[in-house]
Amino acid sequence: MAAHSHAGRVKVALVGIGKIALDQHVPALAASPDFVLAATISRKGAVPGVAAFTDFARFLDERPDVPVVSLCLPPVPRYEYAAAALKAGRHVMLEKPPGATLAEVHALEAMAKERGLTLFATWHSRMAHAVAPAKAWLAGKHINRAHITWREDVRKWHPGQDWVFEPGGMGVFDPGINALSILTEILPQPVHLTSARLVFPENRQTPIAAELTFSGHVTADFDWRQEGPQTWDIEIETTEGRLALRMGGNVLEIDGKPHAGENTIMGEYPALYARMADLLGTGASDVDLSPMVHVADAMTLGRRETTAAFHF
Ligand code: NAP
Repeated sequence: MAAHSHAGRVKVALVGIGKIALDQHVPALAASPDFVLAATISRKGAVPGVAAFTDFARFLDERPDVPVVSLCLPPVPRYEYAAAALKAGRHVMLEKPPGATLAEVHALEAMAKERGLTLFATWHSRMAHAVAPAKAWLAGKHINRAHITWREDVRKWHPGQDWVFEPGGMGVFDPGINALSILTEILPQPVHLTSARLVFPENRQTPIAAELTFSGHVTADFDWRQEGPQTWDIEIETTEGRLALRMGGNVLEIDGKPHAGENTIMGEYPALYARMADLLGTGASDVDLSPMVHVADAMTLGRRETTAAFHF
């Protein structure tokens, strides 16, 4: 790492200056002890004071001094950028979900391995404040049943982003996969999908709501039509008490009483970049596709229903 450092911090380029780049990546990098934002690559966005490129090939050509590329694009265009970055010898961070298909992420993983580069398929919700304490509390316990309620307003979180309803955009699984990334992290034993109900707006390619059933009495209710209060809860009943993760994994209750966590999502992206620094330090990659396997299974096995057209 030292070879790449600038004033002790590793240079990072952000690609796709949209909602998540501006909401989370830029502030997380500004406060990072490990990284400095050295360039952006965007068709129309920029960050004041940071070198702005519009063409990714040109950036790779002109800036060999930037060893890390963090991709904040939607999943469908991401593979081409990730593959080009790895071919150019850069370490890569992928926003979630890590790709449009499982196979393309396997291909990226192989490319990174061949070249001795770090590939980090991030799951920001796994970094939520109460996820590690929840995992520790569940370790060794028997789970009787678990239920996920992930109900939010797509107009608030994806204003005008038609890509979420295009093939590969995943629809309600775009937030739902965050819940699945927590579930797959904290459960002592893995589960598998056994049935699903998917609700598609008549004018769209991806579901706006889904109900999932897994082995082990685990169920999930995802809905993108919730106005007013938003709900991101995982409730788990064990033989030794009840656990509830609220606020997208940031707050933990045990038997209805506060136990751990902090009611803010703002710790997630700083923790992702700290993890990336660790991976670079050890030369490792972190690519866990288990949350996306559940989504692919739901799309494979799910029963489809049609509902009213959706317009932003
Ligand atoms: P977004 O604002 O719609 O898109 C991000 C940027 O990607 C756009 O500003 C655009 O960058 C670039 N882009 C879009 N389509 C492209 C294409 N076809 N080819 C090349 N570049 C393209 O989306 P977002 O909400 O930031 O989401 C991006 C990723 O972050 C998604 O995978 C999402 O799941 C994840 N994420 C989003 C949120 C959230 O709250 N929205 C939260 C956590 C994670 P330029 O215009 O700069 O070229």
